[in-house]
Amino acid sequence: MDNNRDTTAEPLPQTGLPATEVHGTELPQTEPSEADLPESELSDAEAAVRIVPVAELHLHIEGTLQPELILELAARNGITLPYSGLEELRGLYEFTDLQSFLDLYYANMAVLQTERDFADMTRAYLARAAAAGVRHAEIMMDPQAHLTRGVSLETCVNGVASALATSQEDFGMSTLLIAAFLRDQSEESALEVLDGLLAMNAPIAAIGLDSAEVGNPPAKFERLFAKAREAGLRLTAHAGEEGPPSYIIEALDILEVERIDHGIRCMEDPDLVERLVADRIPLTVCPLSNVRLRAVDTLADHPLPAMLAAGLNVSVNSDDPAYFGGYVDDNFSQLKAVFDLSDFDRSRLAANSIHSSFASEERKAELLDELNRG
Ligand SMILES: [Zn+2]
Repeated sequence: MDNNRDTTAEPLPQTGLPATEVHGTELPQTEPSEADLPESELSDAEAAVRIVPVAELHLHIEGTLQPELILELAARNGITLPYSGLEELRGLYEFTDLQSFLDLYYANMAVLQTERDFADMTRAYLARAAAAGVRHAEIMMDPQAHLTRGVSLETCVNGVASALATSQEDFGMSTLLIAAFLRDQSEESALEVLDGLLAMNAPIAAIGLDSAEVGNPPAKFERLFAKAREAGLRLTAHAGEEGPPSYIIEALDILEVERIDHGIRCMEDPDLVERLVADRIPLTVCPLSNVRLRAVDTLADHPLPAMLAAGLNVSVNSDDPAYFGGYVDDNFSQLKAVFDLSDFDRSRLAANSIHSSFASEERKAELLDELNRG
């Protein structure tokens, strides 16, 4: 990591939540979980993968829109969708490539119109994620995807933030919000949106970079990340999903990110792997997403076991779970089925997710304690 941050810079206007101020710090008082039950009380499927407490670090809230909720929001907002009903919509979730996913992903966002819509979507994710063992979530949203269709920054940010504000009480999860920028749009557009977020004192802890990677290298957003860094925001970026290992190096050296989202193509560059291991750079890996978008052919071809063996700081995340076949628990259960992932590796992945989060040290200690008790 490059630590040449200019600490003499004048602080910019208040930017909302400092990274350490996540929503909620207390552990939930929950009923005994499945993990507390004796083995004999678990079904085969449940016994296959016990739920472990994890942090989810790579999650796009727009990617949690389930078909049922899309139809419900469309009806509520009087929006006519270009498909006849649930079955036809479900059928569209079989993707042939990244573009076929993005086409549906952006089309479905049309149902998100009001703060209530954004809040309902967020609460649905929190409920499902809590059942998957997620105890801390760092949630990306794409403000530009909403602004370009006429939904204001206030509507999308305040809607999501209103659900996150009570995530601890409602779901036993601490949360924070990451504003992600679309790398296939211009840096000017991103800078304008970041200005808007800072001006409204949006409760964001970090920025990210997502959408179509190839042809949109991290260096394109050098000024954006410099500005966010000066504003005290934490930094992460998608790199090395479909793009080459050099994009990961650019994200680290030019954007000075603390975390890499995906990063699986680092395995093509041994020197980069060595650097990522030495610096403990977190890689937020999304196995089922990689299969659905054909970054790997099958889960059996996924580099996660090799990444663990290399000593990389990897975690398991769901990316766009409504579109890619599952939430964090689904990712873990399929990994176990394909790789016979050991309990040790699962605990290691969970611990990595907690250590790699932007939560306060106090919150991390609570989560690690919960993990170690399990
Ligand atoms: Zn992603």
